[in-house]
Amino acid sequence: MRYKSRTYSIGVDLGGTNLRIASYAAGMEFLDAILLPTRLSEGREAVVRDICEAIRGLATKDYGALRLGGIGIGVPGPLELPEGVLRNPPNLYGWDGFNIRHAVESTLACEVAIESDANVAALAEQVLGAGRIHNVDSLCVLTLGTGVGSGFILNGQIWHGLTGMGGEAGHIIVQSQGGAPCGCGGNGCLEQYASATGVVRMARERMGVSAPATAFEVALLARGGDPLAVSVFEKVGEALAIALTGLINTLNLPLYLLGGGVSEAWDFFSPTMFRELQVRSYVYRLTQPDILSPEKLDRHRTYILGAQLGPTAGLLGACLLPFQNQKASSLFSENLRIHE
Ligand SMILES: [Zn+2]
Repeated sequence: MRYKSRTYSIGVDLGGTNLRIASYAAGMEFLDAILLPTRLSEGREAVVRDICEAIRGLATKDYGALRLGGIGIGVPGPLELPEGVLRNPPNLYGWDGFNIRHAVESTLACEVAIESDANVAALAEQVLGAGRIHNVDSLCVLTLGTGVGSGFILNGQIWHGLTGMGGEAGHIIVQSQGGAPCGCGGNGCLEQYASATGVVRMARERMGVSAPATAFEVALLARGGDPLAVSVFEKVGEALAIALTGLINTLNLPLYLLGGGVSEAWDFFSPTMFRELQVRSYVYRLTQPDILSPEKLDRHRTYILGAQLGPTAGLLGACLLPFQNQKASSLFSENLRIHE
């Protein structure tokens, strides 16, 4: 679909708890945004009905000269593309094998763009976040939340892989011996050592019953100098370094972004992460920057920075999805014309 300056899109961010739907036009932020609970207990048909009713509501609004140019949906992965079939999504129990693309398209009688939530968040960072600020067209986003999601933008395009399951870096093995079991069926995945769930588990292993119940509280203990809490985040840093070593040595991208709640504990895990990266990754060693967080990136260096967009990245990315075949730069020249 070609992006035109007088076009808006509708994006849907389907999560296990919340359903967010918004209309969006480049340069205008969200035109409208709707937040609904994801009614999982009512069944997936009820959730699809909520999605389609909200889309219809926004599609029939009067936005002056703006016309609806496309609908994008971000869903929890793994997602099989191009069909749009969900494969055992951990946060949508009972949705395994559900063809969400068909359900939505047959209800609305129009095509929708669909992608895993981690991939649309990466698209948002590319077009509106760190990719735009630093003017790069390839990047990787690791979202350290309840799990570890990841998405890759290569030459301005989402990397789906063969069947839509590309970019599952949260399941890179970082602990080959005695690793914690993971929801994916493996053991020792990055997700078990760099997610909020992993932080809480590691705190419990070290502190026993007195361990805090949230990753945020573990970070507060680390801030107070608690050696066990500090050691949890050193393990987070080591796990990230092992996973990033594989990614950096394989892809040699200019920018790797860390987002999600655990990334707020940057001060506690990043010293270990950078130290281990220097030891483990020769590509990082050869390309590490003199200044870790500069205003302007050196084109020949590898940067690992915090993500820019926060929790709205998934919804923004869903809104951008219908336009993803258009280069980010032309999206913004269109955007500039709107404001002239
Ligand atoms: Zn796993």
